[in-house]
Amino acid sequence: MGKLFVVGIGPGNTEHMTSYAEDILKNCDVICGYITYINQLPGSITKNVSHIYAYNMGEEIKRVQDAIKFVENGNNVALISGGDASIYGLASLVYEIIENTTVVEVIPGITAVLAAAARLGAPLAEDTIIMSLSDLLIPWETIEKRIKAYAKIDVVCSIYNPKSKKRNWQLKYLVETFYRERGNLFCGAVKNAMRVDEKIKIFTLEEFDYDFIDMSTIVVIGSSNTYLKNNKLITRRGYSL
Ligand code: SAH
Repeated sequence: MGKLFVVGIGPGNTEHMTSYAEDILKNCDVICGYITYINQLPGSITKNVSHIYAYNMGEEIKRVQDAIKFVENGNNVALISGGDASIYGLASLVYEIIENTTVVEVIPGITAVLAAAARLGAPLAEDTIIMSLSDLLIPWETIEKRIKAYAKIDVVCSIYNPKSKKRNWQLKYLVETFYRERGNLFCGAVKNAMRVDEKIKIFTLEEFDYDFIDMSTIVVIGSSNTYLKNNKLITRRGYSL
């Protein structure tokens, strides 16, 4: 039996991958991952890896099953996720499927919201909510209930999978629900955080820029403690200054 490393490769550029993750990738026998993330890996990391398998979106179960098969054949396998493997990644699916959990090691990575927060300023200084608007694995009715509940709590809320070509009205529903419950709030959005084509935008719920948002964007909606200073989004921790 080999080992199965479930590796968070960070938001994009290699410098934001942990050096431990980089070591594992360089020294494993097999890398399995979603094609976009495989393409993100530089040759300096993949050059000595004998087998690299790229999968399409929707092939998550097959990807994990294949990775487990390779491990059972004695290979050390890196199954990669963008950002962190636990946050809307493959870590939980691995543990759901695999029998022998002792061969698994999850390697954390910088998740999109942490990359975005660093670019926006310091919006996550307090308690925070992280949610996904994707209805591929969770019914919209559940997401809608969560939106209504989160709208009632005065904490920062970050949104993964905010909008896709087919799923384009849910974000507006969220923004309008938050606005109704909490009034106007500062928000930020980062597209392709820590990748070459990164774009950063700060606005408010009232002037929400829906056109800026796509599937490569993460949205951070502030709390009543979030304010703007020299175009940086900051959440007060409560120090008396
Ligand atoms: N496991 C990943 C998240 C996968 S869900 C992580 O921990 O970051 C995919 C969603 O994450 C995208 O729709 C987008 O909302 C967000 N995302 C991932 N990488 C991003 C990046 N570099 N910049 C902005 N958003 C990103």
